[in-house]
Amino acid sequence: MNFPNTRDQALESLREFSSRAGRYSRDRNHVVPGHGNVSCLSAAIRHRLLTEWEVAAAPLAKYAPSTVEKFTQEVYWRTYWKGWLSLRPQVWTNYLEGIEDHPDAEMIRQGKGPVAVMNDFARELVETGYLHNHARMWFSAYWVHVARLPWELGAKFFQDHLLDFDPAANTLSWRWVAGLQTPGKTYLPRRSNIEKYLASELLDATGLELLENPTALVPRNVERPEVTRASLPEVEIPKAGKVLWIHEEDLNPESSPLGDYRPSKIVVTGEFGGKSKLQKEWLGKALNDVAARAEKHYGASVERVDDLIAWAEGNGGTEVLALRPEVGPLYDRLNSLNEAGVELSLVLRPEDRYLRSFAKSGFFGFWKKLQSRMASGEFPLYGQRELF
Ligand SMILES: Cc1cc2nc3c(=O)[nH]c(=O)nc-3n(C[C@H](O)[C@H](O)[C@H](O)COP(=O)(O)OP(=O)(O)OC[C@H]3O[C@@H](n4cnc5c(N)ncnc54)[C@H](O)[C@@H]3O)c2cc1C
Repeated sequence: MNFPNTRDQALESLREFSSRAGRYSRDRNHVVPGHGNVSCLSAAIRHRLLTEWEVAAAPLAKYAPSTVEKFTQEVYWRTYWKGWLSLRPQVWTNYLEGIEDHPDAEMIRQGKGPVAVMNDFARELVETGYLHNHARMWFSAYWVHVARLPWELGAKFFQDHLLDFDPAANTLSWRWVAGLQTPGKTYLPRRSNIEKYLASELLDATGLELLENPTALVPRNVERPEVTRASLPEVEIPKAGKVLWIHEEDLNPESSPLGDYRPSKIVVTGEFGGKSKLQKEWLGKALNDVAARAEKHYGASVERVDDLIAWAEGNGGTEVLALRPEVGPLYDRLNSLNEAGVELSLVLRPEDRYLRSFAKSGFFGFWKKLQSRMASGEFPLYGQRELF
């Protein structure tokens, strides 16, 4: 399996995938060995080695927008989830507060439960850091509705292993499966669906009888979370002088409004605590890549920092400019930076600000607005850069 962790490799994978993107809408739900029906670009997109708008634009060099619409739509699901959570950060905090271990969970996490394919998915997740979307849906639905384990604990299992772990896509997908995201709707793992979409060489029927007729665990009194952070501050970007902080939430500052900035120095950080070995390896290489690119692009010295808070404590009073980390573990640490006396200015990419405003309600309203802006050429805001 190849989950690119440098920008050049990610561009190469995008180029390769774009040539076969015409088959995506037909084949994407079929889970096959090697996952050749999907792009496997999620880790690169999640950490912004590639932006969503670059990825969405790439197949259009070969295909009509209608041919690759499903792919474009999937790419923007991430942006939608991210915008939705950014408007309602309390949903992330509630998830963290709801994580509590359960005596039956370890058996499922270790792949020792009664349903063989679910055991295979648990092992694949741990051994590769990836699961196909359909497998994520089956596994999470099995966890919630069949094993009857708390959804937060399942989401944490994914958080601890996915190379593409994304606070918004993960938390909100698990909430959706559990019937919390769209009131009245749950997702169930059905034997017939698994037999239809899982390749025969991956299909071990042991225990599938448990999925013949599963019963949904329907949550009561589901409330739609309120928008609690409608707007984010605008920051005027100076021309030069501050420290540029590059972090794992956006590994492509060159393509952002900070691309023309002239920093006094660059600090590159990654959060390694609590990550699996594979997650650490992936991130370490991606950080090396951005450090090398940034040194060349900005012509400033680069410091790699593993302990962000220790760095902040030693650099109180320093003026730091960075792209804004969205809701999630790094965002949760910003207070410690402020407390350590670092003077932080956070810049939101204009595309993120623009699309966030569309994420106030459901995905299809978001998608309609975005589609019309794409058709009129209003989005992407910077126009489509030639990639290849
Ligand atoms: C329970 C559950 C948990 C999930 N957790 C995560 C997570 O932590 N991180 C994450 O990136 N995705 C998550 N997803 C969404 C989705 O499964 C992955 O983005 C996708 O499987 C990644 O594989 P790919 O790059 O081959 O996708 P492709 O099918 O090639 O899709 C292209 C890109 O579109 C985006 N995308 C596709 N499907 C979705 C989706 N349903 N939601 C949001 N974006 C999507 C991704 O950026 C992906 O790389 C989760 C889905 C479920 C059901």
